[in-house]
Amino acid sequence: MNEAWTIRKILAWSNEYLQKNSIDSPKVTSQLLLCSVLKIPRLNLFLDIDRILSNTELASYKQYIIRRVNHEPLEYILGETDFIGHKVFVSPKVLIPRPETELLVQETINELKKITHKDLVIIDIGTGSGCIALSVKSEFPGAQVWASDISLPALEVAKVNAQSHNVSVNFYNGFFPSELKSVKDLIIVSNPPYIQSEVIGTLMPEVKDHEPKLALDGGKDGLDIIWQILDIFYQTQAKHLLMEIGYDQGLEISSKFKTEKLVGELSIIKDYNNLDRIVKISK
Ligand code: GLN
Repeated sequence: MNEAWTIRKILAWSNEYLQKNSIDSPKVTSQLLLCSVLKIPRLNLFLDIDRILSNTELASYKQYIIRRVNHEPLEYILGETDFIGHKVFVSPKVLIPRPETELLVQETINELKKITHKDLVIIDIGTGSGCIALSVKSEFPGAQVWASDISLPALEVAKVNAQSHNVSVNFYNGFFPSELKSVKDLIIVSNPPYIQSEVIGTLMPEVKDHEPKLALDGGKDGLDIIWQILDIFYQTQAKHLLMEIGYDQGLEISSKFKTEKLVGELSIIKDYNNLDRIVKISK
């Protein structure tokens, strides 16, 4: 009879299997997927390393490993990810939040802290999982936070996330709710789709085959949605704009700002890799 499959044995097997299939971080991936199957914290894997897995647990784990080998992102398999300390539910209907977006939220929080008046109204355009909106609302519970998305399925995910964080956010299915047009000193935050259409097919399979195109595709030069958001910013009474951009889009955005003599002050903030990542305009 075969020796029983213990946590130790299955982890050794999956580690090797993932590695053979060139999957990133095989050890951590194996551990996180097993924790998800067994519904235990990571530390308990090692406290209970000789625990024998049931047949159902084994079968579920193998399914997870196969999905990962097929390049499904780990976050979709786990159904969740961490975003600046918030547990965010994710599904293939929404983009998986990235560390660069954590930076955008940090910048937004810093900006909001400088504002002295009490009636903060903020909109997160293209909210996806809702990660930006719920982080901002958690930090500023007194603020009125809106979250829009043209994708209804994405908005459903964002609603679940707002509920699970016990924050109240106004959701809008579309681009920009007309009732915010005349709000004074509105703050617009966004991580829009900013990848050039033809580049998407060259990205890693985790992204190109699994994440929603709508959340990635910024049109021919990747700037379509960015220009739309800029238009909204200038057509409304919005005061601050904080927007994530592609690493190679900073120059184009600042030159449009100069040539069109747009009002306000523009700054481009770099990310952890020292690449242009956030554009900030205050008028
Ligand atoms: N706002 C979401 C995020 O930052 C989704 C962005 C998007 O779909 N482009 O992750």
